[in-house]
Amino acid sequence: MTHPVRDTIAALATAPGRGGVGVVRISGSGLAAFAQAITGRALRPRHAHYAAFVDADGAVIDQGLALYFPAPHSFTGEDVLELQGHGGPVVMKMLLTRCLELGARLAEPGEFTRRAFLNDKLDLAQAESVADLIDAGSEAAARSALRSLQGAFSHEISQLVEQLIGLRMLVEATLDFPEEEDVDFLEAADARGQLSGLQSQLQRVLATARQGSLLREGMHVVLVGQPNVGKSSLLNALAGGEVAIVTEIAGTTRDTVRESIVLDGVPLHVVDTAGLRETDDPVEKIGIARTWAAVEKADLVLLLIDQREGITELDRAILDRLPARLPRIHVHNKIDLSGEAPGRAEEDGHPLVRLSAKRGEGVDALRQALLDMVGWQGSDAGVFLARERHLDAIRRAASHLDAANHCWHGLELFAEELRLAQNALSSITGEFTADDLLGEIFGRFCIGK
Ligand code: GDP
Ligand code: ZN
Repeated sequence: MTHPVRDTIAALATAPGRGGVGVVRISGSGLAAFAQAITGRALRPRHAHYAAFVDADGAVIDQGLALYFPAPHSFTGEDVLELQGHGGPVVMKMLLTRCLELGARLAEPGEFTRRAFLNDKLDLAQAESVADLIDAGSEAAARSALRSLQGAFSHEISQLVEQLIGLRMLVEATLDFPEEEDVDFLEAADARGQLSGLQSQLQRVLATARQGSLLREGMHVVLVGQPNVGKSSLLNALAGGEVAIVTEIAGTTRDTVRESIVLDGVPLHVVDTAGLRETDDPVEKIGIARTWAAVEKADLVLLLIDQREGITELDRAILDRLPARLPRIHVHNKIDLSGEAPGRAEEDGHPLVRLSAKRGEGVDALRQALLDMVGWQGSDAGVFLARERHLDAIRRAASHLDAANHCWHGLELFAEELRLAQNALSSITGEFTADDLLGEIFGRFCIGK
C-alpha cells in the first residue's frame, strides 16, 4: 500500500489548563527542518534534547525537552516531533502558534490516532482502545482497554478470519469439482467440524466482548423508592470502600439525581428518582424530564421499599411508567428494624434482596445480585474492552455462520455466507471501513490524541 503525503498537524497533547509539563505534538513530513527551526539545532532521532524553543525572531518562548521520531518509527507512522514545555495555557498557546507559523495546522480530534490507523500502525479496534483507555472509568476498564490496545482482541478476530478463509478456500475448491465428488471432499476435510468449531469460538469471543462492553459502558441503574426509604443510605453503602463517588447535582437545588460508583470494576450509574412526582415547579419539571430520559437508557431498576411496608401505591405508579422489558431487583430495606434475616429471595418474579442499608447487612448480596443480573463473570482477567459496534459485528458474523450451516446442499450460498461472515469480522479491525464510520469513531476522540 502507498500512503498519500499528509499535511503537518499540531496540537496540545496534554490536558488543557495548568500542569507541570505541557506537550505539543506535531506529525507530518519534513519535521527535521521544522525541529531545527524551533530548537535551533539538529535533533538526533529518538533522543531527548534539552533545548530552548524560539520564535521567528529567535526570542525564547519556553525551554524544555524536544523529541524527534522520524517516519516510520513513530506513533502515527509519520515524522513526529514532541515538544515538552511548561504546562501553562499561555506558553503552550505561544508554542502552538509558532508551529502554525512553520506551516502546521491544528489537528482535529483523534487525527493523530487516525493517521496511525491509516498508516497501519494500529488496526481500528486498537485505535478505538486508545480513546477507551483515556476514558476508562475503572482500573478494570483501563486494564481491558490496554489489552485491546496491545492487540489481544484484534488477534482473536484475525485468527477467526484466518480459519474462515481456510474454510472458504476449501469450499471454493470443492465448487470447481464435479457434483458427485463434493461431499467426499468436504467430509475428508471435516468441513462440518470446522464450521461448528468456528461457531463456538465466535460465541466465546462474543461472551468475552460482552464483558468488555460492560466494563466500558457500565450499567445504568434507576433507583425507585419513596422518600426516606433509604435510597441515599443504600448508595453510600454500595459505594462503601470505593475511592470515587462522582456526584452530579441536578438542575434543581433539592436533590442529587445521579451518582456513579464502581462495583467490582463495573461502573454503576445510578439515577435517583426522588424527584419523580407531579409538580408545577418549572425547574423541578426539567429535572424530572431528565430523570425519565435517563430511565430510557437504564439497564435495570432497583425498587427500594421499607421491609415493614411493602410496595406502596406511589411505587406502583412509578413502576407502571417504567418500560416492561426493564429487569428489576426488589430491595427490602431496614431489616434491622423488623428483625428479618438478610439474603436473597424472589418477589413477583423478580429477584429480591433483604438488607439494611444503615448497618450494611445484606448489601453484599445486592452487589452480587446486580452483577449476576448483567452477567458479570467476576473478573476482568482476559477481558478486552469492546464496543457495541464490535458486539454487533460478532453477532452478524455468527448469524451468517448459522445461515451457512443450513446451506450444505447449496455450496454457492454456503460460500457467500462465509464471505459475509468474514466481512463482518473484518470490520472490527477496520479492513473495509467506510470513511463516515472512521469520521464518527475518531471524531469522538479528544484533540491531541
Ligand atoms: P432516602 O430519602 O430514600 O434517600 O432515604 P435516606 O437514605 O436519606 O434515609 C432516610 C432515613 O432512614 C435516615 O434517617 C436513615 O438513617 C434511615 N435508614 C436508611 N436505611 C436504614 C436502615 O437500613 N435501617 C434503619 N434503621 N434506618 C435506615
Ligand atoms: Zn435521598
